[in-house]
Amino acid sequence: MLESFDMNTNDSQSRMEAIVSLCKRRGFIFQGSEIYGGLAGTFDYGPLGVALKRNIQNSWWDHFVTNRDDIYGVDAAILMNPKAWEASGHVSGFSDPLIECPKCKRRFRADHIEIIDGVQFCPNDKEKLGTPRQFNMMFKTEIGATEDPTSISYLRPETAGGMFVNFKNVVDSFHPKLPFGLAQMGKAFRNEIAPRDFIFRLREMEQMEIEYFCHPSKWEETFEHLRKEFKSWMISIGLPEKMIHEVEIGEEERAFYSKRTIDFEFDFPIGQKELAGLVYRSDYDLKQHTEFSKTDLSYFDEETKERFIPHCIEPSIGVERTVLATLASAYKEEKVGDETRIVLAFVPSIAPIQIAVLPLSKKEELSTPAQGIVKKLKKIARVQYDETQSIGKRYRRQDEIGTPYCVTVDFDTLNDNAVTVRDRDTMEQVRIPVAELEQYFTDKFNI
Ligand code: ATP
Repeated sequence: MLESFDMNTNDSQSRMEAIVSLCKRRGFIFQGSEIYGGLAGTFDYGPLGVALKRNIQNSWWDHFVTNRDDIYGVDAAILMNPKAWEASGHVSGFSDPLIECPKCKRRFRADHIEIIDGVQFCPNDKEKLGTPRQFNMMFKTEIGATEDPTSISYLRPETAGGMFVNFKNVVDSFHPKLPFGLAQMGKAFRNEIAPRDFIFRLREMEQMEIEYFCHPSKWEETFEHLRKEFKSWMISIGLPEKMIHEVEIGEEERAFYSKRTIDFEFDFPIGQKELAGLVYRSDYDLKQHTEFSKTDLSYFDEETKERFIPHCIEPSIGVERTVLATLASAYKEEKVGDETRIVLAFVPSIAPIQIAVLPLSKKEELSTPAQGIVKKLKKIARVQYDETQSIGKRYRRQDEIGTPYCVTVDFDTLNDNAVTVRDRDTMEQVRIPVAELEQYFTDKFNI
């Protein structure tokens, strides 16, 4: 069983390096613009990485939008009227403390550098650092052909804003009853002072966010409901409960409008760090957008005849940090004889490939029925056909990319019309009639 694996990459740095190397070797994730020497804070997804990322996003969307009646999906533009960012407070306040080394000129986030007797030192050359200044993390851009102050806009630093500005549109077109939410996933950009730790801290990333609106008197029960739902979704994509830590954020560290914030921290290879946040944002955003847009964003309750600004609770999670968390919890190493077996033990719902079909030899008498099985199984699962190299090497490759099941077509198949199904985690092999394969996997994947 996977649990009994001899983990010889316990050391966190080598574990992170092993994951980064596997991601590159097997086509999951590459440095952005790699052939030009890279671009800090950007990463590109290869064929398996994009499949993993999409499966995670689809699972989140199914859990919170498709399978519920009270959360409505939106997909707002990345570029927004700059007034929206003034209203949300991002123009004046979306900043991190930047500190520069007077000698090597490197820049750091002041709150990430240890203070020793009231002084901070450059991690590079140990020089005494100066006084921090606030650095706005939004990427500025010019809209249109003329360059003047009125043409300035920003790449969104979070997806939330696009939901608040569409609150009225959804209320007017769908007439949802409170409580209800809006959900959005997509790109967000932050000019991080020090992007680092692979895909943990990026300048270009994706977020999955919900703005859930409720009556002000109902915020506590709504918060509790979302807290449980958020965590149960994290567990459903294979994150072990014991690696998720709910950290209550104290009043002094919370945003001024928040009466409660919980950070969901995860045991990443780089330590216990923020994976997601759950924030009670009160009526702050709708009030601000009402004031700045001069549009009434209140809600009228037909039953109680009450008009009020709903309060909002926001579960927010980064896609890349979720990808890294799934990689970190799935990565295992096992000694098999003199060899090391590397396994990504993804749950089937997020595995890039769910079933690999492997003919024992390339001979047509095996490849033809194997291709037939691929065609059949593609209707219910993500399937890959592979006939290169020895069967042992192919099993190892599928283990490394996280494929839960391999179906082997051998010479006995020609007589008994059955195949061998190998389980990635237990390495157990069972003989299944070809006619029963679809049902076998339908049951396995709970389709
Ligand atoms: P941090 O404290 O790590 O900078 P944050 O508190 O600023 O994060 P939020 O503004 O709450 O993050 O954003 C919501 C989520 O978006 C985070 O929980 C995280 O998963 C993700 N996220 C934020 N910044 C980044 C980034 N630079 N790179 C990758 N993911 C990010």
